[in-house]
Amino acid sequence: MIPSVLPTYNRADLTFESGEGSWMIEADGRRFLDLGAGIAVNVLGHANPVLVEALTTQANKLWHVSNLYNITQQQALADKLVAATFADTVFFTNSGTECCELAVKMARKYWHDKGQPQRVEIIGFEGAFHGRSSAGIAAAGSEKMTKGFGPLLPGFVHVGWGDLKALEASITENTAAVIVEPVQGEGGIRPMEDADLKELRAICDEAGILLIADEVQCGVGRTGKLFAHEWAGVTPDIMMVAKGIGGGFPLGAVLATEDAASGMVAGTHGSTYGGNPLACAVGGAVMDVVTDETFLEDVNRKAGLLRQKLEGLVAAHPDVFEGVRGAGLMLGLKCAKPACTDVVAAGYNNEVITVPAADNVVRLLPPLNITDDEISEAVNRLDKAAAQVAAQA
Ligand SMILES: *Cc1c(COP(=O)(O)O)cnc(C)c1O
Repeated sequence: MIPSVLPTYNRADLTFESGEGSWMIEADGRRFLDLGAGIAVNVLGHANPVLVEALTTQANKLWHVSNLYNITQQQALADKLVAATFADTVFFTNSGTECCELAVKMARKYWHDKGQPQRVEIIGFEGAFHGRSSAGIAAAGSEKMTKGFGPLLPGFVHVGWGDLKALEASITENTAAVIVEPVQGEGGIRPMEDADLKELRAICDEAGILLIADEVQCGVGRTGKLFAHEWAGVTPDIMMVAKGIGGGFPLGAVLATEDAASGMVAGTHGSTYGGNPLACAVGGAVMDVVTDETFLEDVNRKAGLLRQKLEGLVAAHPDVFEGVRGAGLMLGLKCAKPACTDVVAAGYNNEVITVPAADNVVRLLPPLNITDDEISEAVNRLDKAAAQVAAQA
């Protein structure tokens, strides 16, 4: 018999009932250190008092207003995002995959309105993840996500991760845009080199096509800059943001330059919930915290500390781990022989939460406000987990 919850997930048998900061408390009372943060969502940890205050204050005033009217909290958050980034304008969504839908529509409408309606193709990279909607799975293109769901949304082309020669060769008079995660998340924590991202921007400029950055996972302070593309000193034309921006409340945003957004006039797009007052009140509070200079400095310092400790962990368990990779507090442990899922499961036995990714990588995406002591304790627990995995092998 089919479970009452559609069984599209292979769930671990863990039931978390509450959370505080970097900790999640299981129904049986065990306290888990959370290096997953709901997959890069809980950027300020669980039950953060600042976010609880923002949410409850708004909850006592007004939950939902249609986008037929002005929404004060939405306007305020858009102003903050525009002030802090390359973008001139923002559309709010409820998830990352909805950002992909709009990014694709925006890029195609741009060319339609510029009198080149044949420019519909979007070039993406292998190993990418852009969400589970029809545009999302077509944009990422991996058989794992697309098989059985045809006919796929047409107009997507794929090249190898970081293969800029192949990318250049695949640009035609039908190309609208390139879509890239500056750090691939689901694909196994694979950062694009700064020099490559710079070159990708130059290739797009030369061809006159749009660059879409998918920062759903790597954005909102995760890599130690507000957005990951900032490390390369270049900007996209369109950016997808979700996960961390709501700190745990469902919220996403598509940011764009005035030119890239020029086709999206009244009536061309919409959302019932997108930019909802509750979501934007929380998003505004998240932005206030993460845009503070000292906050990001601290993220970078702690990222160095975690990385150093993980290098030690790898050195201590060469049979389990091959190396550490990633950027900021978006780190991956590449596993040697054992399956990353076995390492994650051994983590559960030692009350530390990590997330598996492709390419046999264990993902570490802790809350950005994790403390130094929690980092030490987390790596101690990973050390025990690794010893157990080594003993099983
Ligand atoms: C998670 C993710 C998405 C999809 O976001 P949802 O909120 O699950 O729809 C898109 N792109 C990237 C890079 C992601 O990590």
